[in-house]
Amino acid sequence: MPIVFPEKKLVIATHNAGKVKEFVYLFKEVGLINHAELTLISASELQLPEPIEDGVSFAENAALKSRAAANASGLAALADDSGLCVDGLDGAPGIYSARWAQDKNFSPAFQRIERELNTRGIMPHGAKAAFICVLSLTLPNGETLLAEGKINGFLCFPPRGENGFGYDPIFIPEGETRCFAQMSAAEKNHYSHRARAVSELKKQL
Ligand code: IMP
Repeated sequence: MPIVFPEKKLVIATHNAGKVKEFVYLFKEVGLINHAELTLISASELQLPEPIEDGVSFAENAALKSRAAANASGLAALADDSGLCVDGLDGAPGIYSARWAQDKNFSPAFQRIERELNTRGIMPHGAKAAFICVLSLTLPNGETLLAEGKINGFLCFPPRGENGFGYDPIFIPEGETRCFAQMSAAEKNHYSHRARAVSELKKQL
């Protein structure tokens, strides 16, 4: 571990406060912070620019973000590219999940999903969906590791709950009756795509 993080610092290559909060929680949970005596620093704290996400997959976008942050900071950097994939919409919004929202307001994205499912004759409430997260860790020597996590579930209309961020009010994980936005951080992190990706990454370290 000290070889992997020689500076004992890891940049979380995102400007999304919701993701940063979950990473701090998850890294503590899996013991990475204590074991490696790691300090996590967000891209916002370092005022790093946000690269253009022009990849065609979660993996490509995650890798371009972690490489940009590692280059700019000289430190190891972890990026996450994630999104909601709706089966009945051929996986949309997928890598365009952030772009379906307007100025970080997700109501238009919820309405668009509902409308497009209705147009295809699919009942929005209960429609099958999944959250996917691909993590990319770029080390100071340029080596990049990828890890994926996925949670299957169902859509919920109308949206419910106040917790979490993004699409959490319209997603119910398999085996649950509540949306992510109705759960505590600990409950969401028990199931989440991000938690699963962090566990996968830990196996590679
Ligand atoms: P990215 O920052 O380009 O990876 O965009 C991810 C998009 O998917 C954002 O719009 C997020 O709000 C959404 N998203 C990713 N993970 C989650 C999650 O755990 N809950 C809710 N929305 C998420």
